[in-house]
Amino acid sequence: MTRLRMGVVGGSIAGCAMAVAGARAGAEVSVYERSTGELRGRGLGIVLPPSLHRELTAVGYLDAAMPTAPVATRVWVTRAAGSRSAREFARQSGPVTACNWGLLWQALRRSAGSSPAVRYQRGHPVVSVGRAETGRAVVRTEGGAEEYDVVVGADGHRSLTRGLLAPDLRPSPAGYAVWRGTLPMSALAGHRRPLELLRESWVTLGFRGGHGIFYLIPRGDTEGDGVRDHLLAYAIYARPCGPGAPDVAYVRQIAEQHFPAEWAEIVARGEHTAMTCHPVTDLHAPVAADPPFLLAGDAAGVTRPHTASGAVKALQDALCLERSLRASGSPAEALGRYARERTPEGARLVELGRRIGRAQVERTPDWDALDQAGVEEWCRATLAGTTSYLYGDEGGG
Ligand SMILES: Cc1cc2nc3c(=O)[nH]c(=O)nc-3n(C[C@H](O)[C@H](O)[C@H](O)COP(=O)(O)OP(=O)(O)OC[C@H]3O[C@@H](n4cnc5c(N)ncnc54)[C@H](O)[C@@H]3O)c2cc1C
Repeated sequence: MTRLRMGVVGGSIAGCAMAVAGARAGAEVSVYERSTGELRGRGLGIVLPPSLHRELTAVGYLDAAMPTAPVATRVWVTRAAGSRSAREFARQSGPVTACNWGLLWQALRRSAGSSPAVRYQRGHPVVSVGRAETGRAVVRTEGGAEEYDVVVGADGHRSLTRGLLAPDLRPSPAGYAVWRGTLPMSALAGHRRPLELLRESWVTLGFRGGHGIFYLIPRGDTEGDGVRDHLLAYAIYARPCGPGAPDVAYVRQIAEQHFPAEWAEIVARGEHTAMTCHPVTDLHAPVAADPPFLLAGDAAGVTRPHTASGAVKALQDALCLERSLRASGSPAEALGRYARERTPEGARLVELGRRIGRAQVERTPDWDALDQAGVEEWCRATLAGTTSYLYGDEGGG
C-alpha cells in the first residue's frame, strides 16, 4: 500500500511513534497535536524493556544517541522491624532501560520530523472525528475538515477518538494514588548504600499499605553519561489521605512514617521536580481498531502503572501497525490484523496491573517476613502464569 493517507490525533509518545510507523510503511501522515509547546516535562521517568529499546534503535525509530540509564537488577528493600534501618530482602534479574520521558518524546518527534511524509502540526486541537459518506474518516479542526483512509487515535487517556469505538467506556478507579516526581542527585549525597544500589539496580521499597519505586534517569536538559547528569525518579503508591493533601509534603510524610531513615532523608531533601499525583485507574477499549479508526497508546487502554507498560505498549502498537500495513492489501485488512494482535495484549496488561496493585498496594504482604524465596514465590503467584519484563522476562510486555 502506498500513498495511504493517515491522520493521527495526538502527537505525544504514541502519536509520534504511529507517525513513524505509518511513514515507514509508505503512508502520508498528518499529526494533529493540540499543545503548542514541547512535551518535554511530562511523565518524568519511564522504563522500557532493553530488547524493545534495542529494536527501536536498530530500525530507526529512536536515535542511538538518546541518553538512557540501563540497569540489570531489581532490589527489594523495606524498613527493618523495630528499627529505622534498611533491610534488603531480595534481588532479582530485572533488566530495564530507564529513560527520561521528555528525551524519549523528543527522539520520536525527531524521527517523525525527519520523514518528508510526516506533517506534524502543533497547536491543532481536533474538535471531532467521524465517518464520511465515502466510508473514509474525517478529522475536524477549527481550520476545517480533512479525510483520511485511516485515523489513529493517539490522544491519550481521555481520547476523543475512542468515543467512536467504545462510547460508554469509563475508567475503573483502583482506590489509591501514585505520587510521581524526580529529585536531584544531591538528595543522595552522603547516602552511600542507596547510591550504590541505584547505580546498578532499580529499587522497590515496600511498606504497609503501598510501595515506592526508585531509579535513576538521564536529566532532560543535559547530554552525557556521568552520575551528575541523572535524576532520581520515583513513583510512590499509597492511599490518598484526602483532598488537597497529595503534594510533596504528603510524600515526605509517607517516607518519614514508613521508609528506612536514609530513604526518608533522601525524599526529604532537594526540590521535587515535575511532581504529580493522580488517582490510579485503568480502562481498556474492547477493540483496538474498527476501520477506518485505530487506537494506540493510552487512547486504547490505560493500565495501572505497576506494569510500566504505557509507553511500551504505544511503541509496540507502532511496530505492529508498521508490520500490519506492510503485510496487508488494504487499510481494512491492516487494521484487522492490528486489532487481533493489540486488543488481547491491552486486556492482558490491564489484568496484570490489577494483580500487581492488589499484591503491592491493596493487600501488602508482611514485608518484614519476606525473604528471597518468599519474594520469588509471591511474584510467581502475582504473575499467575503471565509475563512481564519487570519480573525478568524480557519477552513479556
Ligand atoms: C506513575 C506512572 C509511571 C509510568 N511509568 C511508565 C514506565 O515506566 N514505562 C512505560 O512504558 N509507561 C509508563 N507510564 C505510562 C506512560 O507514561 C504513558 O502510557 C504514555 O506516556 C502515554 O502516551 P500517549 O502518547 O498514549 O498519551 P499522552 O502522552 O497522554 O498523549 C496524548 C496526546 O494527545 C494530545 N491530544 C489529546 N486530545 C487531543 C485533541 N482533541 N486534539 C489534538 N491533540 C490531542 C495531547 O495534547 C497529548 O499530547 C507511566 C505512567 C504513570 C502515571
